[in-house]
Amino acid sequence: MTKQEILHIRADFPILEEKIYNKDLIYFDNAATTQKPRCVVEKIEQAYYHINANIHRGVHYLSQKATEAHEEARTTVAGFIHAAKREEIIFTRGTTEAINLVATSFGEAFCKEGDEIIVSLMEHHSNIVPWQMLCERKGMKLQVIPINERGELDMEAYRSLLNDKTRLVSIAHVSNVLGTINPVKEIIRIAHEKDIPVLVDGAQAVPHIPVNVVEMDADFYVFSAHKIYGPTGVGALYGKEKWLNAIPPYQGGGEMIATVTFEKTTYNVIPFKFEAGTPDYIGSTAFAEAMRYVQNIGLENIAAYEHELTNYATTRLMEIEGMRIFGTAAEKSAVISFLVGNIHPYDVGMLLDKLGIAVRTGHHCAQPLIDSFGIPGTVRASFAFYNTKEEIDVFIEALKRVVGMLS
Ligand code: PMP
Repeated sequence: MTKQEILHIRADFPILEEKIYNKDLIYFDNAATTQKPRCVVEKIEQAYYHINANIHRGVHYLSQKATEAHEEARTTVAGFIHAAKREEIIFTRGTTEAINLVATSFGEAFCKEGDEIIVSLMEHHSNIVPWQMLCERKGMKLQVIPINERGELDMEAYRSLLNDKTRLVSIAHVSNVLGTINPVKEIIRIAHEKDIPVLVDGAQAVPHIPVNVVEMDADFYVFSAHKIYGPTGVGALYGKEKWLNAIPPYQGGGEMIATVTFEKTTYNVIPFKFEAGTPDYIGSTAFAEAMRYVQNIGLENIAAYEHELTNYATTRLMEIEGMRIFGTAAEKSAVISFLVGNIHPYDVGMLLDKLGIAVRTGHHCAQPLIDSFGIPGTVRASFAFYNTKEEIDVFIEALKRVVGMLS
């Protein structure tokens, strides 16, 4: 993408004009959440001002308009990840709720004492704890795929962990700490040889690389709107139709039923079976708007530009003495985790903040991974397509100053 195009894009994000302590904001915390383009915020306003009414079964005009918007959003989300059917998209509160849904409902239907679930060392807590809770409930075991020194999955170890007791593999598409893009297609192919389903946590993938759930053959794929320039509080679970039909509802309430009597309740068809209560139909509408915005720029363009930014930042970071980068995988997304010498990551983050630069510090909700390095945490810079090489230059000069002060 050209400089002109990036400037054009930046103009869509009003927050990038903010001054932080009288300094230009440099926002490098995109893996935690992304900023919102004007069209997404305006979509929320328009929806509340012009079509707000509770959805489904309403005979009146506004209810039908709001229902249409929510259901069109489902079609947009399905198209974005190339799902075969729009009914395979369930709106959730986000990635975390989507994983909890599968852990609870799949766990209920298909897991028993002695069974095993496989995750990896680089998972976010939201792809560890729901499985741990399932394991505790059912007397099951969590198995963990180790990683190599570059932060790539040990595929041999993965193969050897799969066995007759394995019920499901749940793996990040892209690590939020290391940036590693995992070979999910290969992971799924290997699991499917043994008829084991795979859930892919796509929270850090959908904003950065093209995703095709049918081509990768994922059984479940989950992500959050707020990490792809959409609103907070909404996300999606993709599930193959056969699985969504085979597992029980996650929550009970309105919308998810077909008939209710005190003797027996029957459930609605998918996707409604998994959307109990009033869904966030305004959020889903804005989520779809964000996806259209991203599609207009083009994920291939985004991936290429962010790759360029990440390589540039990596090269410049290596100018700094004592620099340690965690995650040097051959296939890597727009995330750089690092430490300088023995300087505590919080100190670096706090001083960078005073210079207007937002980075994240700590364990990034991946404590087992951070513990495996024997470190207290990292500083993490994560990029989006509205970031620039000029911002990286300012960041590097600021970091050099901070390191000078703290050394
Ligand atoms: N998985 C990964 C890889 C993530 O990066 C995150 C968010 N940091 C999550 C899951 C959880 O997403 P959310 O908090 O939106 O549910």
